[in-house]
Amino acid sequence: MIQFNNVGKTWDDGSCALKSISLSVPKGQFCVVLGPSGAGKSTLLRTINGLCIPSIGHIMIDGDTLSQKNQQRLRQRVAMVHQHFNLSLRLSVSANVLTGVLAQTSLWRSLLGWFSPSHRQKACLLLEKVGLKPRHLQRRASELSGGQQQRVGIARAFMSDPEIVLADEPVASLDPKISRDILQLIKDTASERNTTVLCSLHQIDLAREFADRLIGMRDGVIVFDGTPAEFTDEMLQKLYAGAHWDDEATSNNQNDLEESTRNNITHLAQQVAA
Ligand code: ADP
Repeated sequence: MIQFNNVGKTWDDGSCALKSISLSVPKGQFCVVLGPSGAGKSTLLRTINGLCIPSIGHIMIDGDTLSQKNQQRLRQRVAMVHQHFNLSLRLSVSANVLTGVLAQTSLWRSLLGWFSPSHRQKACLLLEKVGLKPRHLQRRASELSGGQQQRVGIARAFMSDPEIVLADEPVASLDPKISRDILQLIKDTASERNTTVLCSLHQIDLAREFADRLIGMRDGVIVFDGTPAEFTDEMLQKLYAGAHWDDEATSNNQNDLEESTRNNITHLAQQVAA
């Protein structure tokens, strides 16, 4: 169970990303966070793995309050799937997956690339699980397509048997077909292990399809919390009314953002404006 207790975040420049968020996410839930650009979705996710320290309030994971003291230990229970995959492109696919257990490997072993046979076997099993073939294992990550790279990112995230996976726009730079496959993969892998997932998304159709629960955010506040069935078109309009989709497109790396994703955003903007 993840608990946010009146969590707020104000940046040094005075801008407020989160305003007194209180939220409980039960174990094993696939929770999708929606909202316009700048709503605070990434900040919310990053407070869980300590990448962002709340200005006020606190976060508890299974009853343990996140603090600077125990942050390193609790971080090992949390893994992340990134929008731009964050792989080491010069390293092989298997080496990238093995970096998922760096925190559990001694420094000298990891420097020498000496991972235990059980970790190597686990990496192979996970790569098979995410749909990669043995021939991919020794390829450089740079030689894979975007969808394949995200599969490696998912295998890496699950290497440490995390209790929580944070997926920050995991399909923002993938086409719609691959996006669906990737979300299905995250959902299946998580549900087999009873892993809690917090996933920020911009694709409303995918959010409705995959989420157990939808959290709608705007200006650092939760404005919707319910099931996909409860998230009506009226709610959708309210959540995104006045959102600056152009800002969203320019804040992403344009090279990585595929045409289809832009079409998705345009389509959604039209849907909202209608
Ligand atoms: P979202 O993920 O919904 O697009 P973010 O959580 O990235 O929103 O950002 C929420 C707000 O916090 C925005 O106004 C953003 O500009 C601001 N923000 C995010 N990161 C920083 C930072 N490192 N320094 C200052 N402001 C930031």
